[in-house]
Amino acid sequence: MQIIPLPGNGPSSNCYLIVDGFAVLIDTGCDERILHSLRKIGLPPEAVRMVINTHCHFDHVGCNELFTEAQICLHSADARQIEEMNDAVTLAGLFKREILPKVDRHLKDGDVIRMRTGTLTVIHTPGHTAGSISILTSTGVLFSGDTVFADAVGRWDLPTGNPDLLKRSLQLLAIKKFLQLYPGHGPPTTKNKIKSVLEDGIITSASKIP
Ligand SMILES: [Zn+2]
Ligand SMILES: [Zn+2]
Repeated sequence: MQIIPLPGNGPSSNCYLIVDGFAVLIDTGCDERILHSLRKIGLPPEAVRMVINTHCHFDHVGCNELFTEAQICLHSADARQIEEMNDAVTLAGLFKREILPKVDRHLKDGDVIRMRTGTLTVIHTPGHTAGSISILTSTGVLFSGDTVFADAVGRWDLPTGNPDLLKRSLQLLAIKKFLQLYPGHGPPTTKNKIKSVLEDGIITSASKIP
């Protein structure tokens, strides 16, 4: 299983390409230059078979429409917000842009995506949004979306956000087995470095990032 980070520019989220028999993209960001980044590594956008969005915010799903051959997957709670074009919840209104209301698969906690040698497991981690998920690889990497970053936890003050659920989600991640953490914004970190934040569910240092 090969993981290729595609760091976000400006407000766009980080995206992560996972190649293991086929290509899965974790989040698409909101910067069309992602196509350039993918071409640079020799991957045409049509080769992405699956897009997994960590949640419905525009800065993570804005470029979904560029991946015409991919199955678009979100947790059902956030999938609904995109299907119903709920611009206040998806922040499309805030960004003054539109989101293509297309979701192909509703995910739920515990869903497993089998790749050639490894697996991706969906962990429902609500709090930043009701349908926020983290993705755990069988190789010990966690993609946390906007639930937790290297130096802060996610915001809980946006529509469908909930501080109590965020705290529970952090504590849930504390008991999951992973070494490396790839967040939705900013640099990667390790479980060891953010262990106390996860265990205590400390949510005082919220990020300013949507
Ligand atoms: Zn967000
Ligand atoms: Zn974000």
